[in-house]
Amino acid sequence: MYPLILAFHKIIPDEYTTHPYYWKDICTPYSTFVSLLESLYQENFAFISLQELEYAQINPHERTVLLTFDDGYYNNVEYAYPLLKAENIPFVMAINGKCIENSTWQWFDKIWYYGIQEHKTEIERIKTIQTLKYDLPTLQRWLSTHPKPEYYNSIQRIFFDIATVQELNSIENVSFVSHTYSHYILTALSDVMLETEIRKNIDFALKNHLSLQSSYFVLPNGTKKDFDKRTIDILTKNEVKNIFTMLPYIKQEGLLARYTPYHNTWARERKRYFWQKFLCMWR
Ligand SMILES: [Zn+2]
Repeated sequence: MYPLILAFHKIIPDEYTTHPYYWKDICTPYSTFVSLLESLYQENFAFISLQELEYAQINPHERTVLLTFDDGYYNNVEYAYPLLKAENIPFVMAINGKCIENSTWQWFDKIWYYGIQEHKTEIERIKTIQTLKYDLPTLQRWLSTHPKPEYYNSIQRIFFDIATVQELNSIENVSFVSHTYSHYILTALSDVMLETEIRKNIDFALKNHLSLQSSYFVLPNGTKKDFDKRTIDILTKNEVKNIFTMLPYIKQEGLLARYTPYHNTWARERKRYFWQKFLCMWR
């Protein structure tokens, strides 16, 4: 069976699900995360590291799973890491240099935050994000007029700093990969900007601070609309050979499919359905 690659964003304490700033699409409550890991054990999945992924792809005899965390949220360190460390489970972190370097927020988190401040509904907030992500000039104008909000709780302390990244990077079984510098949607960028976004993150985040040369790359958003041939060409030029997408059915050379186990498909009685659907897909 093809290795299962799971994509997480924020791992949060369960009580945060009632918080007004809770965003169900990118938050996994801690109990859901634990329950998912338990199910993976029960279904006889072996947890593999990024280094073992290539072998697992070539030798797909057993059920293997690779855990990945996107965007460098500090709550991964607070909530997921202690458990993964105790269980000796490898994992991958996909990071954006801009957030670490400037200790700034992801642009979509900022829109979410200001949307709540301005009493916008969840649908309106998501609509703003969907519209601005493919309209870079308007997004950049919006960002320049909205300063970084003050941190107001530990969930909002969202990004790793350089010291945390370096500390985690020294641990065996933890791998860092590039996720672009600013997390802009790549199809919205000019050729020059596209190259800068890719190059700057590989140079800044990986080479300068981690002395890393990774051949892996996580596409921002990662659906079909979010990358094109230009992206693949520039990544190839920068010696990136393995590209993580969010496309569950793609199994072609170089493109690695990931799946996000959403809270609402996972935590409730639909767990069995999830596995049936998922196991068919990955067979
Ligand atoms: Zn991301």
